[in-house]
Amino acid sequence: MRRQRILHVILIFVAILVSIVLAAVLLQPPGKSLVEELYSVELSRGEVAFIHLGYSGVILRTGNFTIGIDVANLLSEKEIKDIREMSLLVYTHIHSDHFNAATAQEIFEKTGCFIAAEQAVYEALSGRVSAEKLVKLEGGESRELYLREGKITLHLVYGVHPVQIILLLLEADGLRVFHGGDSGYSPSIRSLGHADIAFLPTGDPSPSASPGDAVKMALDLNPSVIVLFHGSKAQHNSFTDEIKSKLASKIIPVETGKIYVEKLLP
Ligand SMILES: [Zn+2]
Repeated sequence: MRRQRILHVILIFVAILVSIVLAAVLLQPPGKSLVEELYSVELSRGEVAFIHLGYSGVILRTGNFTIGIDVANLLSEKEIKDIREMSLLVYTHIHSDHFNAATAQEIFEKTGCFIAAEQAVYEALSGRVSAEKLVKLEGGESRELYLREGKITLHLVYGVHPVQIILLLLEADGLRVFHGGDSGYSPSIRSLGHADIAFLPTGDPSPSASPGDAVKMALDLNPSVIVLFHGSKAQHNSFTDEIKSKLASKIIPVETGKIYVEKLLP
């Protein structure tokens, strides 16, 4: 009888303890958002840090710049709030998985960033953001942007997509970054030269991107690091299978919810 009572008391004690631990875990304030974490990465020369937001959406940081490309509406309100600074937003084309006018305007109002945009996006943003910060992109051109933090150069070509799409090789802090939107291969990519890092689409849900097109882009750009996005796991794998005998590039099938830091220059 007495033993039973002691057992009873122990059980109640254990139950209380478990409840306290569970409550502590569940009631914990949410941790830093990924965007906050991205800003806290210490970068040395030649390094880039980036996060993937889904589709072709990325935010990357070099020593002096923060650049968002095709961020669409892929950031939560909390993440937009956590954007400390933004040097430049780039939009490759107007499809909704790449561009959202309200998000672009919100980030612009918060940071005063430059916005470099394909023509249809440029027109959609005209009147919503300051004209002197809005830059229209055209294929075959190079544009130099003079920011407080320094100069960013954009080398631009037209890609292959159901609507007009701009692909870019961006130079910032001595790093050469290629972003392929969700485009198919275009021979004009060859004119861009070497990329230190290339963000390449392998397919889904784009009607024009494919593993084979991404392979051709990679062969033209000969990147040190290839980041695969805008595609299924099978499409990423098919790209990797095909490229590994042809290039020595490091290949990253990118995931959301992670911070990546890559050293691109010695
Ligand atoms: Zn598209």
